[in-house]
Amino acid sequence: MKKITIAIDGHSSCGKSTMAKDLAREIGYIYIDSGAMYRAVTYYCLQHDFFTENSVNMEELQAAMKDIHINFRLNGEGRPETYLGDTCIEKEIRGMAVSSRVSLIATIGFVREAMVALQQEMGKEKGIVMDGRDIGTTVFPDAELKIFVTASAEVRAQRRYDELKAKGEEASYESILENVKERDRIDSGRTISPLRKADDAILLDNSGMTIPEQKAWLMERFNEVVNK
Ligand code: C5P
Repeated sequence: MKKITIAIDGHSSCGKSTMAKDLAREIGYIYIDSGAMYRAVTYYCLQHDFFTENSVNMEELQAAMKDIHINFRLNGEGRPETYLGDTCIEKEIRGMAVSSRVSLIATIGFVREAMVALQQEMGKEKGIVMDGRDIGTTVFPDAELKIFVTASAEVRAQRRYDELKAKGEEASYESILENVKERDRIDSGRTISPLRKADDAILLDNSGMTIPEQKAWLMERFNEVVNK
């Protein structure tokens, strides 16, 4: 069967990565979480004190880009985890310290250029499912299957809240909702590769859908493309 490229974009916390991961496992494709890469850069900035109150030291970050080596490795359960060099940072990049700063980092041109180049390299053999904000528009504009996922901000905040709680982390629904809305605003309003649906992407509003329903829906879209 021919291998294709699958781009899954959409708003923050709408379950893109769960969908993308499940699909990749089911069809034997590689899954890449592009958001984790922007999170890894943000984590590096936090570790190296590059942040001032509302901004980041651009000169320091630009000079450090050559030392930021992001990679993914499978854990014992076969799930991909994010690494900076040889250090697993999967847990660290999911907390609020990174979540509240990542969209700022993702507006920076030289950061995006480096991440897009790495993503294109990872996907050059096809057989890949990548989720993010600009995968169907910028990273893989020729992807054979493009999905744009959305859900209401309240539904997304509740999902993120449940996820953090389940991991035993402190969380306030109100601050998560605020963070979700703020990230939408920054992601959609930025100059470089703003979050938008590619013209040829299929829209999925999953506000009222269960995970198994989404999975079935996505499998149908995949089969339509590969059996064409
Ligand atoms: O997908 P996730 O929520 O982990 O992504 C974190 C942030 O990284 C997003 O809010 C967005 O600002 C940025 N991002 C991006 N382009 C991508 C993936 C993520 O700008 N392809």
